[in-house]
Amino acid sequence: MKLINNNKTLIALALTTLVSACQSTEKVEVTTAEPIKAVEKVIEEKVVHPPVDEILSQVRNCNDSIIIRSQLLSNQQLDKACALMIEQESYFHELFNTRGKPVKDDGNVALRANVYDSKTDYTKYATQHFDMPTNNGGMYLEGFPSKEGNQAEFVAYEEQSKSSGEWYIRNLKHEYVHYLNGRFNAYGDYCKYLHDDHAGPEYCPKPSPILPHSVWWGEGVGEYVARKNVNDWANKEVTKEFGKYQLSDLFNTSANQNGGGIRIYAWGYYAVRYMMEDQRDAVEEMLVLMREGDNLGYQALVHKWGTSLDADFTKWLKTTLANEKSVEPAESGH
Ligand SMILES: [Zn+2]
Repeated sequence: MKLINNNKTLIALALTTLVSACQSTEKVEVTTAEPIKAVEKVIEEKVVHPPVDEILSQVRNCNDSIIIRSQLLSNQQLDKACALMIEQESYFHELFNTRGKPVKDDGNVALRANVYDSKTDYTKYATQHFDMPTNNGGMYLEGFPSKEGNQAEFVAYEEQSKSSGEWYIRNLKHEYVHYLNGRFNAYGDYCKYLHDDHAGPEYCPKPSPILPHSVWWGEGVGEYVARKNVNDWANKEVTKEFGKYQLSDLFNTSANQNGGGIRIYAWGYYAVRYMMEDQRDAVEEMLVLMREGDNLGYQALVHKWGTSLDADFTKWLKTTLANEKSVEPAESGH
């Protein structure tokens, strides 16, 4: 704490110095806002926080494949989070008929969930602890599944439900599905998947692979397995934008190009749900390729589908949006 306070003082001092320096020059109007921000950012990056083991000092082993490392979760919250992930694990295996068999070269036998006490703490520590951006609601870090000693992690935080006041782990189910999908449905590490994200900690090389990518599936399946057939937020957003995308457009969704939260998570949810409900044979054909890491084969398959499913998807979507009943607990976030 002392260190952090000192650094806060440093920032304040640096800002004061800069402001007074600006005030003493004639170019003050041109040079105020931006340079101050820049100096503040540089100094913030130099703050050295206590290591992750000190901040996330509580460790709970839910079972052989799930570990939770947390800052301030109560025993009751830990019980609940363990139960939820264990239930999700068996649901996933049943849904995809994995028979518990991972893809080849995958040594990610266990997932470690890292849970900060609040969004503020997540933003403060996660970049330094995990070399990752925090302008998001949590992240799954698969690491290098073929490397010995690799630890798959997801990084999340507690948030308070606006309706019940209860604290819960934001995106717990969604992030956990990334682990399951990565271990049982998709070969290789994050940079082997088809997307255009170049952020840390993976820093996947540029240029990105050509379209189609597989972000619609990766994020959509996270939402679909987590929420099953009730997703109020996606229903509301997709109803507003009904007709904006064909299914064939959604196969070209990515992290940056053709991205955005609504397209990725809400439309992605319905794209995956449609494929799972109405085109299950096509999904199985796709999963064979994904499990092998055959990106070219996957892209050829998506090209073969072309626009042939578009009309049926739109028809299905219209009915599904109209018939969905809202029974979703308010705390599930997205
Ligand atoms: Zn995700």
